[in-house]
Amino acid sequence: CRKICVMTSGGDSSGMNAVVRAVVLYGTSKGCDVYAVYEGYQGLVDGGHQIRKMDSHSVRGFLSVGGTSIGTARCMAFRERPGRLKAAHNLVKTGVDSLIICGGDGSLSGANLFRSEWPSLLEELRKTGEISEEQEKLHKNMSIVGLVGSIDNDMSGTDITIGAVTSVHRICEAIDAVNTTALSHSRAFVIEAMGRHCGWLTLASGMASGADFIFIPERPPAEDDWESAMCNVVKRHRDLGKRKTIIVVAEGALDKHLKPIKVNDIKDILTDRLGLDTRVTVLGHTQRGGSPCAFDRILATTQAIAAVDAVLAATPDSPSPLICMNENRTTIQPLMASVEKTQQVAQAIETKDFAKAISLRDNQ
Ligand code: ADP
Repeated sequence: CRKICVMTSGGDSSGMNAVVRAVVLYGTSKGCDVYAVYEGYQGLVDGGHQIRKMDSHSVRGFLSVGGTSIGTARCMAFRERPGRLKAAHNLVKTGVDSLIICGGDGSLSGANLFRSEWPSLLEELRKTGEISEEQEKLHKNMSIVGLVGSIDNDMSGTDITIGAVTSVHRICEAIDAVNTTALSHSRAFVIEAMGRHCGWLTLASGMASGADFIFIPERPPAEDDWESAMCNVVKRHRDLGKRKTIIVVAEGALDKHLKPIKVNDIKDILTDRLGLDTRVTVLGHTQRGGSPCAFDRILATTQAIAAVDAVLAATPDSPSPLICMNENRTTIQPLMASVEKTQQVAQAIETKDFAKAISLRDNQ
């Protein structure tokens, strides 16, 4: 029978537990042995009790719990070949033939590298006598399947990532809460949202909460003087009788001249130029999750089932798949191409080539 390992890696997101639960339940129903790697790549490198056999009892209650109960970690060792060699050895020792990884672009880059190195890792293990020739032959095909768990919704190839919608809900709830005090005191609030290079969380939560103005990395304000542009909009809304002002700022927001736009600078501008009683709210880690919304539970479950099916359908020559959603359908994209494109977008934003970043995102 197939031996499937499931793991979560990188930044946690709501729905990762639902992935683990569905892989375990669906995998075992298909006659597979399912293992979980605890603590992300660190658990894979450490092996031993970090790789545990799972059954329906192990995942009871997982569906509605945020984050990842099997743990996640940032692992420096896996970035180096000796670490990946240990990880490969641990998988062979456990008899695992496939790995389902739910994580962000970093974790999936690592997965892609691990898959491409797999034959040479086995060869090295055989040459150093850590595995036998027979084990090398038996394990020469390792299927690796990626699932995108990320609140940022920053992965190329998929319309939505597991955890992003829950995160938008949390941001909206926070803005709704702040709205009541903004309305009562006629205040302005400048709210910083997560998202690294990606402005999706800010765009989505800004729309859903009726923000007056947003700042995102992909589309810096067109004006040299964005300060006046923002003040004009805020003043117009105030002149219409609005008692509250909400500005949402992505943590990676930049101006036209590629200078970071910071929440405290916006606060000072609104205070000095418009005389508004302005406060800053940095939402921080509240955005990461809590209980996943229904959409993320459904997305995680459907995609985890697709991941197990992809493992069962994999042939030795097929490229590693990434389970995605496009136009409301579950699709399979090549993991490597999606990882590369995501890195290109991040690089384009870092090197300030916004036109390229937007066209890469639009064409994904
Ligand atoms: P995320 O998956 O949320 O983007 P990270 O970028 O921190 O989070 O990646 C999670 C882990 O994935 C890292 O701690 C590291 O172990 C592994 N990883 C990331 N990038 C690579 C890489 N290029 N090569 C090997 N492993 C990587």
